[in-house]
Amino acid sequence: MLNRKLGVIDLSKEKIDIQEVSESLRRKLLGGRGLNSYYLWKLLPKGVDPLSPENILIFGAGFLTGTLAPSSGRFNTSALSPETGFLGDTNCGGFFAPEMRYAGFDRLILKGKAKKPSYIYVEDGTIEIRDAKDYWGLDTLDVQKAFRKDLGQVEMAVCGVAGENLVRFACIRTGIKNAGGRTGMGCVMGSKNIKAIVAHGTMGIEIAHPEEMLKVVEELKDYLMKSKITPILGSVGTPLLYEVSNAFGGIRTKNSQLNAWSDDFNASEVEKFVEKMISCSSCFVHCRHRNTLGGEGPEYTALGLLGSNIGMEKLEDCIKLQNQVNELGLDVSSTGTYLAWAYELYEKGLIDDKITGGIKLEFGNYELTKKLIDMISRREGFGDILADGQWSAKKLKDPNRDYLIAVKGLPQSDPHDVRYMKAFALGIATSSRGADHLRSRPTLEIFFKLPPDVRNKIYGAEIANDPTTLDTKEHVVAWSENIFATIDCLGMCKFICHGFNSPHFVDYNWMRRLINSAVDWEYSDSEIRAVGPRVVDIERLFNIKQGLTKAHDTLPKRYFDDPSPLKTAKGHHIDREEFAKALDRFYDVRGWTIEGLVKDARVQELEAIA
Ligand code: SF4
Repeated sequence: MLNRKLGVIDLSKEKIDIQEVSESLRRKLLGGRGLNSYYLWKLLPKGVDPLSPENILIFGAGFLTGTLAPSSGRFNTSALSPETGFLGDTNCGGFFAPEMRYAGFDRLILKGKAKKPSYIYVEDGTIEIRDAKDYWGLDTLDVQKAFRKDLGQVEMAVCGVAGENLVRFACIRTGIKNAGGRTGMGCVMGSKNIKAIVAHGTMGIEIAHPEEMLKVVEELKDYLMKSKITPILGSVGTPLLYEVSNAFGGIRTKNSQLNAWSDDFNASEVEKFVEKMISCSSCFVHCRHRNTLGGEGPEYTALGLLGSNIGMEKLEDCIKLQNQVNELGLDVSSTGTYLAWAYELYEKGLIDDKITGGIKLEFGNYELTKKLIDMISRREGFGDILADGQWSAKKLKDPNRDYLIAVKGLPQSDPHDVRYMKAFALGIATSSRGADHLRSRPTLEIFFKLPPDVRNKIYGAEIANDPTTLDTKEHVVAWSENIFATIDCLGMCKFICHGFNSPHFVDYNWMRRLINSAVDWEYSDSEIRAVGPRVVDIERLFNIKQGLTKAHDTLPKRYFDDPSPLKTAKGHHIDREEFAKALDRFYDVRGWTIEGLVKDARVQELEAIA
């Protein structure tokens, strides 16, 4: 059961190899992010150019994707990142991944480069490389309409014109807004001349104990619906976080020169633009907005990154910008961060009209931003410079990236200004794909004044009852990394993961029960708890192979040197000495050396997985 196949597609040789995946490998890493990272680590040599045919691109469905398990329609796309030069990996919802499994495949590995614009078509155990000349040049919405017109009710993962033009932060999209947003996986698609993976399947998925799965899903649904957070997510979605963060001064504003912004971006204002709430496959949370301006969203990330961070004053303009970014196939977080970076550099006089081609950059200018986003996606004029993301630092006269809010070359995903919330700071500093909240977001630190005994029980260690200290936060970050990596392997959404939005969501026990209803494994508690640490270590090994050192586990200069100026967070920053000590403690909790290396015995253990 769940034994869909692995399709290895050599685009240069136009050769397709369909393989089985061993049960022992799946038991150790389940699927999704775990197996993707494993294959990257094993297959990709050191020193490959991410935009060359030598890079590989992996689409991997989660272990439970396509089943009735709640919010389980997700997949990961992974490669060496053209945006960072380290691990490229991104998680996406929608309906594509279940369809890929119904078409017979858990995972597709793309190697080489197609000779001409192409797309991959998978259907009921078969894979074809097809001509994409009729689809090349279309945006992410138009291309999906075109495929459906030509091929019927198919599901697909596509790149937009930004991916075709090799913008280093181009994303992958399914549906109107679901994004495999981070680390430039749409750019890797473009570099391989691949416009889309299109799937149609009728094979179904065999479940070992269907009645037991129905029972567990029913129980889990009741449990999740009892949480106060579920109906809030289903009615206002992630914008609820904006108000919470803004209240204490935790919103990235104007490239983090400020840390609070307008109340006009609160969820109650977003509601005025919501047509209805919709969901991904198998999800009853339905946290996503269909907006009245022709798109979906905004998420909290768009409110911050294409709102406060670039100084937008009108919510309507922010929503229009995120719709535009979605259609062109750009990552919202990276786009908003690079724009804010350029705006501040221009404001400070570090770059001038000679570099911008006469364009006068300024925060809060909707028409300018709209034009620049279009220029980025087409690599026109100054947009061509910004399209290289962090690699444009020298051209932007900020060679050390002092003004760029990024870690390991990846712009921070979350609108959170982490100078106040110290566990957030440690999390984005150590995340395997760069400044990213979805690897270890310790949301419980924002939402709740949790009683110490509850907090300690959740994190399995004595945790300081103070969000502004780094003390003990190594446990919070490591615990969060482990459980979020596990849910990524299952293909379930983090929004219902224990610790991400609530302490009353899907924990290891629920995960184990779902697995044991799906397969005949008798998966144990210790087995499910071992998956996350394995994935984190494999990703560390991949990054080390690509040149990562302890020096990369750091934070943007501004977070160390410039205290937050506003509200409760005023005066807070990250102390370098305290951060260095926290990093050492974090390595210790992870079982790594003082230099952040995976110890030899562990490397041997992971190398033996097969
Ligand atoms: S909670 Fe939201 S993002 Fe997650 S699967 Fe459901 S609809 Fe999609």
